[in-house]
Amino acid sequence: MSENKESKKPEKKPAEKKPDITFFHPDLLQVPENGDPPYLTGYRCKSCGNLDFPKPTICLNCWGEEFEVVPLSRKGVLYSVSDIFIGQAGMKTPYIFGYIDLPENLRILAQLQGEPGTYKCDDQVELTVGPIRMNRDGLPIISYMFRKAAN
Ligand SMILES: [Zn+2]
Repeated sequence: MSENKESKKPEKKPAEKKPDITFFHPDLLQVPENGDPPYLTGYRCKSCGNLDFPKPTICLNCWGEEFEVVPLSRKGVLYSVSDIFIGQAGMKTPYIFGYIDLPENLRILAQLQGEPGTYKCDDQVELTVGPIRMNRDGLPIISYMFRKAAN
């Protein structure tokens, strides 16, 4: 007798698991849908006006708890830079980290786009958006990065 393959078909696969996170820092980075350039969000204390990034739980100046979101400058100056050759899991090496000084007197840690050895202190850099690492499913996680400024 022939096997009745039809009736032995395995049941439908369970629903696929939800894709892992692919966009980091939604409360730090805004990417306007109208095509305007992305910007980082600073948090200005409503009590004393102190500006901070990333979002603090309380104002480090006055302990205020209410903040106004303000767009930060897209361009800054590289304060320091490190090429990383032994990285964290999920991060393809080599990659580059730097501290960027923004005109708002904020110093921001971010990944830099490009090849190791191509940045030096005092380089003009600008905000961009790109893959900062891979998620558990091997898909790129998108967040803020900096790259050499156009001019
Ligand atoms: Zn404050």
